[in-house]
Amino acid sequence: MSALARDEAAAARLSLKDPSLLENRALVAGEWVGGGAKSFTVRDPVDGAVLASLPDLTPEDARRAVEAAAKAQKLWAKEPAKARAKVLKRWFDLVVENVEDLALILTAEQGKPLAEARTEILSNAAYLEWFAEEAKRLDGEIIPSPSASQRILVLKQPVGVCAAITPWNFPNGMITRKVGPALAAGCTMVLKPSELTPLSALALAVLAERAGVPSGAFSVVTTTDAKGFGTEVTKNPLVAKITFTGSTAVGRWLMREGADTIKKLSLELGGNAPFIVFDDADLDAAADGALASKFRNSGQTCVCANRIYVQKGVVEAFTQKLLERAAKLRLGRGTEEGVTMGPLIDERAVAKMEAHLADAVEKGATIVSGGKRSELGGTFFEPTVVTGVRQGMLVTREETFAPLAPIIAFDTEDEVIAMANESEFGLAAYFYARDMRRVFKVAEALESGIVGVNTAALANEAAPFGGVKQSGLGREGSHHGIEGYIELKYVALAGL
Ligand code: NAD
Repeated sequence: MSALARDEAAAARLSLKDPSLLENRALVAGEWVGGGAKSFTVRDPVDGAVLASLPDLTPEDARRAVEAAAKAQKLWAKEPAKARAKVLKRWFDLVVENVEDLALILTAEQGKPLAEARTEILSNAAYLEWFAEEAKRLDGEIIPSPSASQRILVLKQPVGVCAAITPWNFPNGMITRKVGPALAAGCTMVLKPSELTPLSALALAVLAERAGVPSGAFSVVTTTDAKGFGTEVTKNPLVAKITFTGSTAVGRWLMREGADTIKKLSLELGGNAPFIVFDDADLDAAADGALASKFRNSGQTCVCANRIYVQKGVVEAFTQKLLERAAKLRLGRGTEEGVTMGPLIDERAVAKMEAHLADAVEKGATIVSGGKRSELGGTFFEPTVVTGVRQGMLVTREETFAPLAPIIAFDTEDEVIAMANESEFGLAAYFYARDMRRVFKVAEALESGIVGVNTAALANEAAPFGGVKQSGLGREGSHHGIEGYIELKYVALAGL
């Protein structure tokens, strides 16, 4: 049973129907643990108001969670798939029932508008439902043997204890899409959410407990010592797999640290998505897509359009349409009616936006909209559109992760494909075109794990989400999404 939230005042400030979803404790090895000697605060990015004070746990706490997860995993894996599926389905139902409270918590700690928060929660809860079903379909194989006296059996078994590390930009969705397939496969999970946004993860853990996820099978370790947690889970031989979403730099570090114990890894890392508008595109659809892709979550998504390439003949018309749409965005507190864009997560994010903007302007680009901090103050930044951007400027090389739309004009298909592929990243790419020959050619040529053709809506539970090049390893979602949580065991049957 989850205890009531200790800070009733904070819960009341958020107007939660169920205040016990706003936890100020962590869930370690089946126990809810409070602050004790060391704690850290979680703040609302709009005004810095303190939302909660949470225990700042140590690598030893992570170890306790891993040990409990190892014990729980033995029992959980023995549960019939149908029983595991039932628990996940209950968890899904509880997330859907509590979407309003979960959205209030998410908006408070992350800043995105409430409507976006609801979408994040429901579209990612769908992974719980999907993997509840997949749990029942982990079919093995009997393969014809080259020898008359042998049979080849292939069993699918859980990898074991998993550790998850998640970022702040989707603090709710990143949890369900990792814990769902892990539990479905018979694994258990120790999660470290971002220290900036741990409250959504804790609320999900409260609901997981209510749904019947067994004690110790899912821990949420809150800590500001990310490296300490990372070191513990990469070195601990009880951890079989690490699933990480975040920056490429940390992904690389985890890979190096995990080499000694040959950790299995799923990595969802940085992106630098090209968004291409060809001259045969539906320009209204392209402008709608660019707006959604670039400004959703204030530009803080790994798949957001980072570089907008527009064919020369339509560059003015497209820019005009994008500007008209960007002008209608309304900045503000995510819970206010009509607000469509929240603040950036912190000052570091604003500094990166300003550096990319300054570099572009210095090298000859023109700001045609926005370009400065909002009058709202804090970390609010105006949606910004910049034209005359050229390949090689910082905005084309690095992920800006902010509401900056740089427009780069191009001449030919081959030229834009080369520019789009000029990146160490390969997560998402988009293009708008109607010529079918072009659609196939470009979709095949883009070096990217995901390609959106005439759409900016990519992620859903039925599709394999993930990157190529230095954007990561593995896929989340679809029937492929559970594969990272299973091992194949080959049984050679003879002497029958
Ligand atoms: P980050 O890498 O700084 O942090 C991500 C998580 O890793 C946080 O929980 C952080 O505390 C933790 N962390 C940091 N150092 C660690 C260490 N040494 N050991 C263990 N954990 C450590 O990234 P961020 O700034 O929070 O998130 C933004 C990045 O995430 C962007 O690059 C974005 O593209 C990427 N991202 C990728 C996807 C995807 O699906 N590919 C999705 C969302 C975000």
